[in-house]
Amino acid sequence: MTTAPAAAPYDPPRTACILCHGTQLREVLVDYRGHRIDCCRRCGVWFMNPQYTDAHLAAFYSGYINLHPGGDEPVRFRTRQDVREKGKSRALALLRSLGAGRRILMVGCGDGLEIRLAKAAGFEPEGYDVDAVTTTNVARQEGVPVHCGSFHALAGKLVPFDALFLDQVIEHPKDPGAYLQTCAALLQPGGLLYLGTPNLGSLSNRLKTLADRLGLRGKKGRHFNTKHHLTFFTPHLLSRHLKEQMGFEVLRVRGSLKPQQNPLVTVLGRLHANFDSSFLVIARKPR
Ligand SMILES: [Zn+2]
Repeated sequence: MTTAPAAAPYDPPRTACILCHGTQLREVLVDYRGHRIDCCRRCGVWFMNPQYTDAHLAAFYSGYINLHPGGDEPVRFRTRQDVREKGKSRALALLRSLGAGRRILMVGCGDGLEIRLAKAAGFEPEGYDVDAVTTTNVARQEGVPVHCGSFHALAGKLVPFDALFLDQVIEHPKDPGAYLQTCAALLQPGGLLYLGTPNLGSLSNRLKTLADRLGLRGKKGRHFNTKHHLTFFTPHLLSRHLKEQMGFEVLRVRGSLKPQQNPLVTVLGRLHANFDSSFLVIARKPR
């Protein structure tokens, strides 16, 4: 087994799956950063092991989307603003079309764009994110409650919501199994859960992983993006977990709704989620 660099800020290696807690893990590959990717033999999920420490992640996310007053760094976005905006707007419209009620919690609301779009789509949003300064600023800017602190602690404090929106979020927490359970606790019976996440089962990502395992690429495992992505899902695996482990009804599984540079991906993404490098699942909590 390969170990992470000694000086790096990592927890002790996990001996159980971070999604299903199964204890049979196998190494898939080690990426160019020296991060080992393991696969759970029980549920099939892949995850970075060992994981970063909480302190490292807190420091990372305080600079992830910089809304700190007087900060030296520019505001950073993962993708172009119009692509983010169109993708999130279409996702919110799809949620409405599936009968989502008005009260929605935007989990990982970042710079507040998705709160603004949710209001425009007729929702009554609240937000959650990890950085205290950013959430305070977004709450002031958008005029809605934006929660901070432990995500799990919200479940006992907030009135359950009609819908939860997690766009490019579930790949980030260290404990996605527990995170999804908290999502369920934050939903009303019959409430809708939206999850958008990278698709490590996409055709292009499968080819990259294959090339990496054959030693054919320079930056091995770059597409896992282990700078901040810790868990790697496929549409099949995430849907199965929601259905079989959580009792949810899966309403939609498809490629992402963001505008694509290649129009062919848009067309193929409608046919099968694995033609797109990210996917979405919408599922209903049992009534
Ligand atoms: Zn597992």
